[in-house]
Amino acid sequence: MRKQSLFFLSLVGIIFFSCNPQKPEQAYQEASEDDTGFKYVTDRFADLQILRYKVPDFDELTLNQKKLVYYLSEAALSGRDIIYDQNYKYNLLVRRTIEGVYKSFPGDKTSDDFKAFETYAKRVWVSNGIHHHYSNKKLDPGFSKEYFAELINKSNEDSLPLEDIGGKQELIDKLTPILFDPELDSKKVNKDSGIDNIVESANNYYEGVTQEEVQQFYQSKKIEGVEKQPLWGLNSKVVRENGKVEEKVWKVGGIYTEAIEKIVYWLEKAITVAENDQQRKALEKLVEFYKTGDLKTFDEYSIEWVKDTESTVDVVNGFIEVYGDAIGYKGAYESVVSFKDFEASKRMTTLSENAQWFEDNSPILDENKKENVTGVSYKVITVAMEGGDAAPSTPIGINLPNSNWIREDYGSKSVSLGNIVASYNQASSKGSKNEFFLGEDVMLRIKEHGELAGKLHTALHEVIGHASGKLNPGVGTPHETLKNYASTLEEGRADLVALYYILDQKLVELGVIPTVDVGKTEYDTYITNGLMLQLRRLELGENVEQDHMRNRQLVAKWCYEKGQEENVIEKKVVDGKTYFVINDYEKLRELFGQLLREIQRIKSEGDYEAGKELVENYGVKVDPELHKEVLERYSKLDVAPYSAFIQPKIFPVKEGEEITDVKVEYPESFIDQMLYYGEKYSFLPNEN
Ligand code: ZN
Repeated sequence: MRKQSLFFLSLVGIIFFSCNPQKPEQAYQEASEDDTGFKYVTDRFADLQILRYKVPDFDELTLNQKKLVYYLSEAALSGRDIIYDQNYKYNLLVRRTIEGVYKSFPGDKTSDDFKAFETYAKRVWVSNGIHHHYSNKKLDPGFSKEYFAELINKSNEDSLPLEDIGGKQELIDKLTPILFDPELDSKKVNKDSGIDNIVESANNYYEGVTQEEVQQFYQSKKIEGVEKQPLWGLNSKVVRENGKVEEKVWKVGGIYTEAIEKIVYWLEKAITVAENDQQRKALEKLVEFYKTGDLKTFDEYSIEWVKDTESTVDVVNGFIEVYGDAIGYKGAYESVVSFKDFEASKRMTTLSENAQWFEDNSPILDENKKENVTGVSYKVITVAMEGGDAAPSTPIGINLPNSNWIREDYGSKSVSLGNIVASYNQASSKGSKNEFFLGEDVMLRIKEHGELAGKLHTALHEVIGHASGKLNPGVGTPHETLKNYASTLEEGRADLVALYYILDQKLVELGVIPTVDVGKTEYDTYITNGLMLQLRRLELGENVEQDHMRNRQLVAKWCYEKGQEENVIEKKVVDGKTYFVINDYEKLRELFGQLLREIQRIKSEGDYEAGKELVENYGVKVDPELHKEVLERYSKLDVAPYSAFIQPKIFPVKEGEEITDVKVEYPESFIDQMLYYGEKYSFLPNEN
């Protein structure tokens, strides 16, 4: 579930909300400012755009809550070096070299070469290292080895990380293959089958050991007969020492101690202003975990953290997600500091309170309905600071903790990052609406209701969708029965619940939406995205692989095909451009209902063959002609497939030693922020 929502999150903003206009500079002005003149999009390069987000209602917090946010933000940033080092052993050396050059190179900074270097620098900062943050492939510098040598030779010696290296020439010799040899450490994470995934991944979680050795090592850690075990391996690097496989733990006194001590320092400050005993208890456990490195303590922390539902301010801080490790043991350092968005959370609560009504009125087979359904608890938060793996590229939702037995025994927290999503929305513009949608009414509706439609789809998907339906007695978990098709079908099921209800008058009655036009808007964007827009994330010749992309195509294509006789969704070609126009929204809703009923049946009965059939027939294959057309139309729009964020600056106002207030500012320059972080939060040695 966690993985699904994270994927969903990272995709949603991009697919539904990022629509850039034709002439970047001009159009950004028009498109990226809100009524107050706040600029959301500040830069565009390579496959990226740089956004900012607001922290609304920060001033509504009490002084103690503001201090708490400030201390936790400093803790978040203090671990920044860790994610660089985790991603790749030489990332810190590369980053410090880049920073040194950027600050001290006296040559022409307007030349094409220097511009290429600057773009590379920004890409490294966005990815927390030299591998692409999404594809995991090594970034192509875009300038020559010779120019790289020139940059270093002309830069100020004191600005460069020469401590353990020697001189400039040694630095050049060391970094040239690291940056320029495409074969050397080419992928950060390599999950291909039939290879040693540890050896072939460039990340810094393992050194000198094979996949088999690591798997044996952790197999032997497991305590026989005990169900509730820690996530072994989450907080350490595995190395070979004196011929033996060993763990080096990330903790105070262990590796990363220089950064972890700072994190602990700020967490201890945070403890002094905790909002209540439960929050204090959780933070104390987190500090204890960082000091001891004991994973059982981390479990204790997670339990206390889940129990803390009353606090306004909340934080994720630790070694959390394991996607960066091909075999899923090692947790990447991340932190997200936030506080509750009370207004938006109310909408979620309303849906959750009516979960049984949605279940009873669902088009699924009666025998597949739950008698007692409780909506998944889902909250909207306002982000104040992100660090480590959660920045500059951010999730738009988080579902933690990751330990399954803790989730079962104590529950989990599932949140949507409201102000981040809002920023994605603001960053979008008329560009792709004009390009891919037909009809003035459709475009006006998207403009008026697009944002709410997206939010409500997510809420329905999470709160009602995943919670609905039940398995037939004796049927194994979807993971067991539907195997590799389980996630695609589950995400499709949750989407279909959302789509089915988003056109329902009930939502208007509940006060969640002003009109069912919100639902029509969601239908327009969902169908066009599923049949066309998302194809831009694929290269020509590729099939759809990613679970969420598969489910969206499955849903859209199935409905297109099944509705063909009645012309429910019409394919129109105007001036050589393809559009999918919905002629009958009510009929489309019926089709969504039919497919939902079928996918629920497949899940309830564990019908692998039928599930496979659906996914393979509708979710995987790409029409090469249409794909080519989409890529061409997008290339003219200059839309950035990925976004990264500038963090707000959160700082105390002091009278003497006493903090009398905490303020938020919104820096505009990504480069300046990266250089500032590089100076202020640079604690680790070059190699760890
Ligand atoms: Zn989902």
